[in-house]
Amino acid sequence: MDYLPAFHDIKGRLCLLVGGGEVAARKGGVLLAAGARLRVVAPEIAPELAGQPGVEAIVARFAPEHLDGAMLVVAATNDRAVNRQVSESARARNLPVNVVDDPELCSFIMPSILDRSPLMVAFSSGGGSPVLTRLLRGRLETVIPQNYGRLAAFAVRFRELVKERVTNPPKRRIFWENALDGAVAEKVLAGDDGGAEAMLRQMLTAEDNALAGEVYLVGAGPGDPDLLTFRALRLMQKADVVVYDNLVAKAIVDLTRRDAQRIFVGKQRANHSMRQEEINELLVSLAREGRRVVRLKGGDPFIFGRGGEEIETLAAHGIPFQVVPGITAAAGVASYAGIPLTHRDHAQACLFVTGHLKDGTLNLDWNALARPNQTVVVYMGLHGLDTLCGELVRHGMPDGTAIAIVQQGTTQNQRVFTGTLATLPGIAEREKPQAPTLIIVGGVVTLHDKLAWFHPQPAGEEPLRRQAEGSPDR
Ligand code: SAH
Repeated sequence: MDYLPAFHDIKGRLCLLVGGGEVAARKGGVLLAAGARLRVVAPEIAPELAGQPGVEAIVARFAPEHLDGAMLVVAATNDRAVNRQVSESARARNLPVNVVDDPELCSFIMPSILDRSPLMVAFSSGGGSPVLTRLLRGRLETVIPQNYGRLAAFAVRFRELVKERVTNPPKRRIFWENALDGAVAEKVLAGDDGGAEAMLRQMLTAEDNALAGEVYLVGAGPGDPDLLTFRALRLMQKADVVVYDNLVAKAIVDLTRRDAQRIFVGKQRANHSMRQEEINELLVSLAREGRRVVRLKGGDPFIFGRGGEEIETLAAHGIPFQVVPGITAAAGVASYAGIPLTHRDHAQACLFVTGHLKDGTLNLDWNALARPNQTVVVYMGLHGLDTLCGELVRHGMPDGTAIAIVQQGTTQNQRVFTGTLATLPGIAEREKPQAPTLIIVGGVVTLHDKLAWFHPQPAGEEPLRRQAEGSPDR
């Protein structure tokens, strides 16, 4: 270990900052954020620094007496001779000194920080590679939620109460582990401190301090695992059980915790898939066993995903749950196909509809769909393609209107078939697009030729599971 990591309490204490430019302002900002009083010494001091509350600005060249009363010193001038003088004078008085970008002149270094106050993570490469520490910090930034600090603050608030009620130390540790890694934590992170408090108090009164199970209804996006949200990934790595169906790519299911139980509920209807009611009940009974359940849905759970029905059952049984939005197929697939859903020259509105056939027919508001200057996105529409094109033309859409079928969008098996209302059914017949497919109708489709940017390499990549086209995501 080359350095001793330590956190200084500088609240209300005087720190000396030598330098008045941009870099000095940045360092000064950190010192002020930690509550320091700041004496800034430089021939010229940037107004945004000099004007801050708690700042004593001295417009002068550095002199050793500026160190009087200071507990910590930072030099951030662009003049190495001055920096050296500051360093030597500070060391002569045994004051900790940092010189920006000059480890040799430092007695302490300022780490790169991830601030989730009161929780704080500091990174350092001993001055060796600030870029590397910044990259590492960026990585952790993604896995430690922005509001993690709230969680720390919450724990501080209830520390004494828990200590009083759970007197046995090992039991208390387990209690906190359960609370800070479970439903209580999720409530705090979702901004519901009141709900979290109620739950914590309930745990305190329960005989065994047991934690109720909970369900995370998570949108997994359209296929490319990179399109998951941070929250989705975090909850996926936390859950003990994952319940998923055919629309979720294997590469995404593989991102769940290694030892989590996996339950596949989305077989095609012909293969006796679990009925929606059975899935709803399954989620309830898993949570009742005290398990943390991730219910993974393709795309967004609230867009043609029957997510509403699943949480209605949970709500009726008082099971805690949360919903994590995902990138819906329309958004993900259109982006990867280079088809902007709205565009000033082509479409001022965009409709999402389901093309799922009921009794072999499509029951849609054709007049609304056939209007000009809009984009229509059809989910589950391949089987009804002929009807779709025919009805749109019958209701006044020109048969030369551009239309696309995007197969397995955002994955390495993505293919885009374009044509017109008149020609696309024939093209589909010939090319036999593989499910899942999304249909996009409107002038924006003509932009695909120019804007296509995603060029997948089908070989060697895991395809999406085949899905019975026309059967809703369930
Ligand atoms: N909840 C999902 C939609 C479920 S309905 C969402 O928000 O995206 C299932 C339909 O979504 C499929 O029949 C298909 O039309 C569409 N879909 C989902 N993923 C797709 C993909 N990667 N490429 C093309 N269409 C997709």
